[in-house]
Amino acid sequence: MDSTEFRKRGMEMVEYICNYLETLGERRVTPSVEPGYLRHLLPTEAPQEPEDWDQIMSDVEDKIMPGVTHWQHPRFHAYFPAGNSFPSILGDMLGDGIGCIGFSWAASPACTELETIVLDWLGKAIGLPDHFLALKEGSTGGGVIQTSASECVLVTMLAARAQALKRLKAQHPFVEEGHLLSKLMAYCSKEAHSCVEKAAMICFVKLRILEPDENASLRGQTVGEAMEEDELQGLVPFFVSTTLGTTGSCAFDNLPEIGNELKKFPCVWLHVDAAYAGNSFICPELKPLLKGIEYADSFNTNPNKWLLTNFDCSTLWVRDRIRLTSALVVDPLYLKHGYSDAAIDYRHWGVPLSRRFRSLKLWFVLRSYGISGLQHYIRHHIKLAKRFEELVLKDKRFEICNQVKLGLVCFRLKGTDKLNEKLLSAINESGKLHMVPASVNERYIIRFCAVAQNATAEDIDYAWDTIVDFANELLEKEQHDEITEIINRKKQDTLAQKRSFFVRMVSDPKIYNPAINKAGTPKLSMELPSPVISRGSAPIIRTQSSVDHNSWISWPLAFLFNSNNEEKGNNCSLRFRHLDTNVRPTSSRRNSGAGSSPSPENETGFVNQPQQQQQMQSPRKSPMVLRKAPSARENHN
Ligand code: PLP
Repeated sequence: MDSTEFRKRGMEMVEYICNYLETLGERRVTPSVEPGYLRHLLPTEAPQEPEDWDQIMSDVEDKIMPGVTHWQHPRFHAYFPAGNSFPSILGDMLGDGIGCIGFSWAASPACTELETIVLDWLGKAIGLPDHFLALKEGSTGGGVIQTSASECVLVTMLAARAQALKRLKAQHPFVEEGHLLSKLMAYCSKEAHSCVEKAAMICFVKLRILEPDENASLRGQTVGEAMEEDELQGLVPFFVSTTLGTTGSCAFDNLPEIGNELKKFPCVWLHVDAAYAGNSFICPELKPLLKGIEYADSFNTNPNKWLLTNFDCSTLWVRDRIRLTSALVVDPLYLKHGYSDAAIDYRHWGVPLSRRFRSLKLWFVLRSYGISGLQHYIRHHIKLAKRFEELVLKDKRFEICNQVKLGLVCFRLKGTDKLNEKLLSAINESGKLHMVPASVNERYIIRFCAVAQNATAEDIDYAWDTIVDFANELLEKEQHDEITEIINRKKQDTLAQKRSFFVRMVSDPKIYNPAINKAGTPKLSMELPSPVISRGSAPIIRTQSSVDHNSWISWPLAFLFNSNNEEKGNNCSLRFRHLDTNVRPTSSRRNSGAGSSPSPENETGFVNQPQQQQQMQSPRKSPMVLRKAPSARENHN
């Protein structure tokens, strides 16, 4: 592709992106594809020869788009927003066009310097203390762009670990570093993002996960007590990761309390992860949420979440850049340059060496919207979340599960977790809305986040109407299922009663009322031996489609008839009072075991079973019956 074609295709691409974003609402918000769907649509090898651009673009629409989850969709309310805006896209495009790799100041001075300036701009707008700003007179701190919040937590933990090990090494010069490492303990709340756990795994340090209060907020006393306890055990607290705006419910750890508690542990690094919420602190009225930041050693927020900036752009500020870089500096000759001491080399501020020109897109965003435009955007999302909260509160079948301070509302149907799981999965499967769950205070909740840049009140109302429709349907079905269950349980109880009656009847013939035997009961001669049936050797009783005559008869008589018929060559069909069916008893040649009372479990060989007979048979299949029912012999022993 030469520049002439790039111009043409570039225009087409802009057109494609605009169309995509403008008509996004017409698509399903989530794809309905199975894992591996794309493998079946694309060749197994890369093409040997160049392909036609139009063909590639047509595959985008036909093969790629069906598998895309549309994070910018007005019906997407999952996770947190994925920052996106035209200025940001263009800024990224320019960065890609320039294509520099700004690992050091010398590798591309503008890349480094713009990052420092833009991070100072944003840091000031957020309200970070001066010691976090690189260009403030006398400051030792500064900001840097990382790929993700996870990386921010990792590098700060690495820095804290290096600092703690250095201190311990100085105190115990002859102790192995591995042993010192095994003493280090980090802390976070149960509500902290899983990236803290991951960072601890990578850093090979212990992590103590602490219980937050009923508002999902980690309290100072909890942290202080845990650290004191651990010190008594010979462990060394070295890092606390707090969260402002937790992933689950956008809860805020009590930073002033924790910071105050950490005064007793001056060597402990205090990190603040405000991946989503931190962006909102550009609004003056939300700055109180940042209270306690003066205690922090580092702070991160993701403009690529809630500041209209495309991924990746996670901003991290540290109070002392030397403490950060001393954990990460490796300085081979080929990377040294004449201004190493005078300029920032961002390669020492993170894991990768190579770095994209990411500050360009943030610079474009900050300039295009201005702080006021970004404040308007944040406030708009909060207003939408409040509207949604009000709708939920009006419906008494639902409850709100978090304090709605920003753009996230956590709610649930009053009822079981299972019920809420069913509701959410039905909604998500429909492709009409997309939300994700979380567990807050051990309860399953549904998260609803205002996400789309230009979301409207109508979008919120649509979302709520959709949720209500699904809830109505689900609750109706649950009610119906409950009634069916009650009926079935009643049926089973009745059957169990009947069964117990059979058993009592056959084991105590006195309860049999001969008056009900309306059939011409065969004469029972006194010489006739009483039937001796063993479990598992009951007479085989077959129903007949055409019955000779109808007779009410009870189980004991059936056995008598059976033996009688055999001897006399009779073959009469009978009607069982309790089974309400016509049967013809035929003899089982196996009726020779030790005597016992027949029970329903003895019934075998029903043909054309009516429903009641089938139900009577089922307990025999039940493992419980098989396990628990004693054998005839055991019954008698
Ligand atoms: N921290 C918090 C509070 C988050 O909410 C998230 C993600 O939502 C993360 C960390 C992880 O973010 P990233 O994907 O940038 O690593």
